[in-house]
Amino acid sequence: MLIPAERAPRYIPSLGSWLAGLLLSAVCLVLLGTVLLIENFARAHAERRAIDALQLVATDFRDALDRGMAQQFRQLIVLAQLEPLQQTARPAALRRTLEQIQQGFSHFAWLGVTDAQGRVLAASGGLLEGVDVSARPWWQGGRQAPFVGDVHAAVLLERLLPKQTEPWRFVDFALPLPGAAGEGAGVLGAHLSWSWAREVKAELIDATLASHRAEALVLDRHGKVILGPPALEGQPLPSQGGPSRVEREFDGEAFYVAVLPTRGHERYPGLGWQVLVRQPVAVALADYFSLRRQIGYCALALLILFLPLSWWLARRLSAPLRQLAAAITARHHLGEGELPRVGGYREAQLLSNALAELAQRQAEQDASLSELNASLEQRVQARTAELRDAMRQLAASEQRLLAVTDNIPAMVGYFDREQHCHFANSQALKVHGLSASQALGMSLRAGLGEASYALHEPYVRQVLAGQSCHFIGALELGGSDAHFQAHLVPDLDAGGLVQGFYLMSFDITRLKRAERVLAALSRVDSLTGVPNRRHFDERLPEAMARCQRGQQLMALMFLDLDKFKSINDGLGHAAGDAVLQAFAQRLRACVRGTDLVCRLAGDEFVLLLEGLHAPAEAGLVAQKVLDAVAQPLQLAQGPLQLSTSIGIACYQGEEPADPASLLARADQALYAAKAAGRGCFRYAEGEAAG
Ligand code: GH3
Ligand code: MG
Repeated sequence: MLIPAERAPRYIPSLGSWLAGLLLSAVCLVLLGTVLLIENFARAHAERRAIDALQLVATDFRDALDRGMAQQFRQLIVLAQLEPLQQTARPAALRRTLEQIQQGFSHFAWLGVTDAQGRVLAASGGLLEGVDVSARPWWQGGRQAPFVGDVHAAVLLERLLPKQTEPWRFVDFALPLPGAAGEGAGVLGAHLSWSWAREVKAELIDATLASHRAEALVLDRHGKVILGPPALEGQPLPSQGGPSRVEREFDGEAFYVAVLPTRGHERYPGLGWQVLVRQPVAVALADYFSLRRQIGYCALALLILFLPLSWWLARRLSAPLRQLAAAITARHHLGEGELPRVGGYREAQLLSNALAELAQRQAEQDASLSELNASLEQRVQARTAELRDAMRQLAASEQRLLAVTDNIPAMVGYFDREQHCHFANSQALKVHGLSASQALGMSLRAGLGEASYALHEPYVRQVLAGQSCHFIGALELGGSDAHFQAHLVPDLDAGGLVQGFYLMSFDITRLKRAERVLAALSRVDSLTGVPNRRHFDERLPEAMARCQRGQQLMALMFLDLDKFKSINDGLGHAAGDAVLQAFAQRLRACVRGTDLVCRLAGDEFVLLLEGLHAPAEAGLVAQKVLDAVAQPLQLAQGPLQLSTSIGIACYQGEEPADPASLLARADQALYAAKAAGRGCFRYAEGEAAG
């Protein structure tokens, strides 16, 4: 079965593994570093030693070649000066001289003297005598000055000289012979056998080369091998550049190489040869390779030895920590019991002591924590009980508040700053025909309707600005007026910011109606049923204003019963009342319905006549009143004759409209009527009846 990747236990190496790994890595690194250092040094040393040795051999060989060639040259120059070589007229003697010289200088394969035209006059062994050699380079070169020619194969002498294992090769020397007349009489030519160079090499360096398994080569100026292994001689040396200046590859094998150019010596100018000494790298570094192998074996041995040692060391170093870790793992909690004290080394001991102290402190803290926890739980329980009580009280308080708000004859609601409803009492729900859930969250505008909201809106703005306010409003509901009084109170938080507002609305329609009835009653005289003085005081300025606007004539008639006191006194107060009632009825009967009859006080009445065409019309009405009043009045006590006096003041809309002065003028006119004997009417002063 496959285990999900996240559940697979992750291997975490132990400290011992880490330490063992680290120790081994450190040892490996140290060993590797040491081996590399030694190896580097040993290789550089071996390489330097090999190169130095090659350089030394090359220098010796080069110097031997240069000096040997110079010596041959010098000897021939000296020989050319000798008397016997000038005897060109005696070829036999000359030949003997040359053969004697050849015996002393065995490396010369051929010695010969030519005449001025290049014909061989005499030669060692008689070879080439009579032959014309004027075309040979050595003869051409040696005619004027001493000449040395580079190594070349025998041309004419190959067939004449005795056979040898390798083909004859020569280095040509040629010198002009002075001759008897002091001018060039001929040329002394000598062919130095190239085996001379091989002998020089064999004597000087072959033993050394053999011991180093090295070989030396001589290259001519064109890089062709002129001395070296027979297979290479005459061939250009095939070589690739190696990794360093002194290392080259020949036929796929790496060699250390020392190359030195020959420089000539004394009068011998040198022929541009190069001496090349080479040694296979494998041979030169054999000791180094052996050392490297030994170092490798030693390192491996050390490593194998250190493997268990590092494991043992790591185990030993990690033992105290393992012991501690095992003790902690065995416990469920750090504070359970005492932790073991471990030794081993100082840090482990310190850690163990610190952990033991920590465990002890943890145990103490656990104990105090559990105590604290217990007391906290008690406090939480106590607080929970308190909270429950408080909640209960709050619920009861809310219930009471709800009972109050639901039973007061008012609509109560709470709205937030966005004017959304959060509470509405049952009265409000009933009036607006809403359920509690419908009302919650409903906007004030939607709840009140547009008309009512328009009345509330300015006060809502005011209360949201933090000001309590109230107003009385009226609405037409179901064909009749409805009146309400609204109070708006802001809900302020602790910082004084408005969170919402309370709206309480009382239905005052019935109060308003009662008020209207009372107002009407307060304007009627209860004894006679005609409007009283208050009504008159309100209506007079209105009538005067109308008159002023319409430029019409109006008349105010002031009436007072004549000798009324005596009726009271004679017939009693009740009879007096009946007289007053009858008087009022007769006054009403005398005027139009639009005219106003008021009782001002006692037996004083006024008539207000509007829309007159002339003051005389008032006089006609006054007379009509006088006549009506004069009709006998039937009382329980018997018939009674009444009379009244009337004062008339007219108003035609002139400025200023002054009700008090109009009344005063009417009163003066009444006084005049009284004074005139009563039972008549009089116009105010200055007003003509006509
Ligand atoms: P005059 O001709 O000058 O008007 O004489 P008079 O007796 O009528 O005198 P006056 O008008 O001053 O008297 C009014 C009287 O009316 C005085 C008062 O006792 C009486 N009176 C006032 N109010 C009432 C009332 O309500 N009922 C009755 N019965 N008498 C009233
Ligand atoms: Mg009177």
